[in-house]
Amino acid sequence: MGKRRTFSGGAHPDERKELAEHSAVRKLPAPKVIRVALCQHLGAPSTPLVAKGDRVTRGQEIGAQNGFISLPTHSPVGGTVLALEDAALPHRRSGPTIVIETSSEEGGAVFEPWPEYSSRSPQEVIERIRAAGVCGMGGASFPTHVKLSPPRDKKVDTLILNGAECEPYLTSDARLMVERTADVIDGMRILAHALGVGRVFAGVEANKPEAAAALEGAGAEVITLKVKYPQGAEKQLIKAVTGREVPVGGLPMDVGVVVQNVGTAAAAAEAVRDGMPCMRRIVTVSGGGIKAPGNFDACVGTSFADLVEAAGGYSGEVVRLLSGGPMMGIAQFTDAVPVTKGTSGIVALTSREARSLSEGPCIRCGKCVDACPMGLAPCLISEAAEHSGWKSADEAGALSCMACGTCTFVCPSSRFLVHYIKRAQEAIRASKRSREA
Ligand code: SF4
Ligand code: SF4
Repeated sequence: MGKRRTFSGGAHPDERKELAEHSAVRKLPAPKVIRVALCQHLGAPSTPLVAKGDRVTRGQEIGAQNGFISLPTHSPVGGTVLALEDAALPHRRSGPTIVIETSSEEGGAVFEPWPEYSSRSPQEVIERIRAAGVCGMGGASFPTHVKLSPPRDKKVDTLILNGAECEPYLTSDARLMVERTADVIDGMRILAHALGVGRVFAGVEANKPEAAAALEGAGAEVITLKVKYPQGAEKQLIKAVTGREVPVGGLPMDVGVVVQNVGTAAAAAEAVRDGMPCMRRIVTVSGGGIKAPGNFDACVGTSFADLVEAAGGYSGEVVRLLSGGPMMGIAQFTDAVPVTKGTSGIVALTSREARSLSEGPCIRCGKCVDACPMGLAPCLISEAAEHSGWKSADEAGALSCMACGTCTFVCPSSRFLVHYIKRAQEAIRASKRSREA
């Protein structure tokens, strides 16, 4: 293992990984009723292919891809369609869903398995990954086939497997690397084959020695990363692993790199090697408000409430329920929302763990400036945004903010910095769109 690499800026939130990091993944049977979202990925929702009363089989395509940046959706169970309706979702206020009554979880490969994937062309592999509905499993949910298809003028020479998992509480990627090492490694090789690159690294934070050793033992070149938030953000990971800096407003492919989460690699292996669509994922259920935190292999469409029950139920007074970790996770107003392909964790926080909901004035301490991994001045951007000074916020670099939450975390006045900056981003983008129109 090499020396611990990192990026400048960042913060050190309490990790709280100990709650679930040693809990082996438990496979949950599908609940009696599941709710499958048609917009689990970034981009256009898929178009429903079934109607109320239809019988579906496990792995059947129930939503058709709707444009290049979109994906097909598959049923993780066999059963009967009870309804097509809009419902609350963990990553957005609401969206179209298909409600299915489960009758069976039986079924084999949906596509022809390709154990000898290297005899397939990169285009065939990318097409299979698309058909299987694979998207980024680290939370962003960007369709993977799009990331694997850079424009001709972008020369990609490096693949980085993202095993940083820098969000506090979350341990699903760590368990995946330890328990399903072969899937991650096969997926890594499949993704490298699809991109046609020979330079491949796996970036793992130093607090996961078991995971790093497992990947290294299976042949991956592991780069050990310093434990620091947001080490798993793409630009920070690329800087730490390759020393390359993604330009402001640019993409990883601008510096010849594609980053894929370890969960995405495992899903790619299942799609290409085993012929299975992306229908399940590992979810960490943790936080002081959970009786028995753990990691669960659940089918998409399982409700948060079902997963919390599998983890022993709530404990004490839960003041915040999050989809994802406490730094970038999204607060939920109900646990009746379904797991999607991007649901890495469900975190229930008690008042001792959750941040204060009342903010004070900025005391000009500069801590947010020192911590911002993008080199921004969050206090100035948010101040401009509070007074609708969109032009000033734009000039201060609001659009470079990746909403990592580091500034909010370090602020002694509990300022809602990310909230203001996101508002500025929306206003700036809307004004640019209207100018272009
Ligand atoms: S300004 Fe944006 S990128 Fe910088 S720390 Fe805050 S949320 Fe992260
Ligand atoms: S950390 Fe908070 S109080 Fe300090 S300068 Fe930034 S916004 Fe102001």
